[in-house]
Amino acid sequence: MKKKGIVAAIDFWGVSDPERIAYQTSEKNYTYKELKQSSDALGYYLEKRLLEKGPIVVFGNLEFEMVVAFLGASKAGHAYLPIDAQTPKERIEAILRVAEPSMIISLNDWEIETEIPVIHKDCLHSIITLMVEYPFEQPVKENENFYLIFTSGTTGEPKGVQISHDNLVSFVDWVLTDFPIKEGERFLAQAPFSFDLSVFTLYPALVSGGIISPLSKEIVQDFQKLFTVLPQLELNFWVSTPSFVDMCLMDPAFDAIHLPELSTFIFCGEELTKKTAQALVARFPLADIYNTYGPTEATVAISSVLITKEILARYERLPIGYVKSDTAVSILKKGEGDRGEILITGPSVSKGYLNNPEKTKEVFFQTTGGRQSYRTGDAGYLAEDGLLFIEGRIDQQVKLHGYRIELGDIEHALLKDERINQAIVVPKYQGSKVQQLVAFVVLNEETPDANYQLARSIKQGLSDFLMDYMIPQRVIFIDQLPQTNNGKIDRKALTAEVNR
Ligand code: AMP
Repeated sequence: MKKKGIVAAIDFWGVSDPERIAYQTSEKNYTYKELKQSSDALGYYLEKRLLEKGPIVVFGNLEFEMVVAFLGASKAGHAYLPIDAQTPKERIEAILRVAEPSMIISLNDWEIETEIPVIHKDCLHSIITLMVEYPFEQPVKENENFYLIFTSGTTGEPKGVQISHDNLVSFVDWVLTDFPIKEGERFLAQAPFSFDLSVFTLYPALVSGGIISPLSKEIVQDFQKLFTVLPQLELNFWVSTPSFVDMCLMDPAFDAIHLPELSTFIFCGEELTKKTAQALVARFPLADIYNTYGPTEATVAISSVLITKEILARYERLPIGYVKSDTAVSILKKGEGDRGEILITGPSVSKGYLNNPEKTKEVFFQTTGGRQSYRTGDAGYLAEDGLLFIEGRIDQQVKLHGYRIELGDIEHALLKDERINQAIVVPKYQGSKVQQLVAFVVLNEETPDANYQLARSIKQGLSDFLMDYMIPQRVIFIDQLPQTNNGKIDRKALTAEVNR
């Protein structure tokens, strides 16, 4: 696939089996032929526009046209940059400043004034219905960027992870080799395209001639609808965060009797607790359940383990897997013992953050043999049999419902509020998982009494800058932040206070 290219491997189905279904919603089936023709037409249009080499922003929700836009951009030699339709305006503007895109394809209402050309949905539809037979001269290849995914940054500036064509090939090859995927299976697509978990569904499904079954946000947010729709999807292959499956487990009918075709579960993005895994084994005794691990910077995931009864019996905290064969993990130890920071070296490690050499230098480096490496910030250890374990973070990054959040990102947004002098955000845990975010806020003297309404208005202000899932559930007003002996803000004391 490295030579032929990912997009060519998907187009193969459009030529050899055109009527095969690629994407299925309750309203419509989209075939591989449609996917190929539409992305050919868009690629042709983009190539003829002779745009600057910058990335192409694709703005929207889970929709077939998003996938068309990704493949079309790639055929024309551009990286694509997915932005979720729910992203606040200020955050989109911050992403545009860093990414300097050459075009925006918008499938939702685009409200930002910009000099960058914008293609709206209607216009996209007229473009993709053109018929072209066209040999693309410069599709994205090798070390060129295939996609960009922006993650939360400590300073309030989002970081754009650059994933090349060959990074993605390393990931897709691994998934198709190490997981039990048969041709033409149905894959759940639940994560937004701006979250790299979606890549676990998208490319393994399309390269293996499978069907993508999206679950829209509107359905996920309505339990009754969700529990009605899930069995109708006839899924074979499940990819989600553990938090999402926890939600599904609330329905007693989420089991092998009602979803008999479901044979494989893949979890990634946050801790899979023993409790969740046990509940799932009880409901789906014959299904394969995998825990996988990896940061966006190393292309979705780099390790996996089948959660067997033996593993459940042996470990209190589940392992995060055996590392894929083209990749090496080492542990950067600080003191005595085998614990330390997890380092990843291999062909799926990104070249770094887009237009951000400083942050890139902090965490990316090359080994003496010239292999690309990444410091994950995760604390863990490698057991003798090669099983990898994670124990937490060495910094202020947290995961809430699978979403990656830098607490510093929220604190920066809080400080934009003129009423606030100081702000610290800490996680409240349930077991080892983050359940809530709590903000401690010191107001300036002019601000009148702290009360519920003020907390609400502060949270409202945050929604201009932050994704919904980043807004702290609680705001606690205090007169002074506690300090450690050497005069630093005592985050530990505040964390202990909310976790008493
Ligand atoms: P993201 O870049 O959003 O995929 O987030 C990557 C981070 O999520 C990792 O560095 C870990 O801290 C955490 N993570 C990913 N997978 C797992 C897992 N299976 N168990 C525990 N933490 C995980």
